[in-house]
Amino acid sequence: MANQSCGAGGRFHRCPNIPINSCQYCGRRFCEAHTYFLGGYEAVCTRKPCRRKHDDLQLHQAYKRRIGERNRAGLCGIEDCVPHPRFECSLCRGHFCEEHISERQYPTRDGSVIINRPASVCAWCWRRRKVWRR
Ligand SMILES: [Zn+2]
Ligand SMILES: [Zn+2]
Ligand SMILES: [Zn+2]
Ligand SMILES: [Zn+2]
Repeated sequence: MANQSCGAGGRFHRCPNIPINSCQYCGRRFCEAHTYFLGGYEAVCTRKPCRRKHDDLQLHQAYKRRIGERNRAGLCGIEDCVPHPRFECSLCRGHFCEEHISERQYPTRDGSVIINRPASVCAWCWRRRKVWRR
C-alpha cells in the first residue's frame, strides 16, 4: 500500500492519486497534483523541504553568476564592496574581502554522518546549510 499511492500528501491527508514520479530529494513517489517541478532529469514533489531545496539551487546558480561577474571585474562578491578580494569561499568558490568571509564549523556529510569541519564560507553559503541539513 505504501508504494501504491502518492507520498507527498500530509500525514493525516494521504493523497490517493497514482504516483507518476519519484522526488529527487526525498525519494517519495508523487502524483501529478503534487508535482512542484519536472524537467530534464529533475523531479521535485511539493513537500516543503523539497521545494526549498529546488528554489535554493535556482537562487544559488544566480548567486554564483553574480559573484563570478564581480570577481572577474576584480571586486569582492558583495555588492558595492571593495576591489582585490583575497579570500575564497570553499563552497561557492567566490572571492571575497576579509569582512565578507568567515571561518565556520561547517556541517559536512561524510557517508552517513555529519561532521563539522572548519571552512571559509561567505554569508550566503552559511545560510544555505539550513536548507540542506535534512
Ligand atoms: Zn520530495
Ligand atoms: Zn498526490
Ligand atoms: Zn560562498
Ligand atoms: Zn566584501
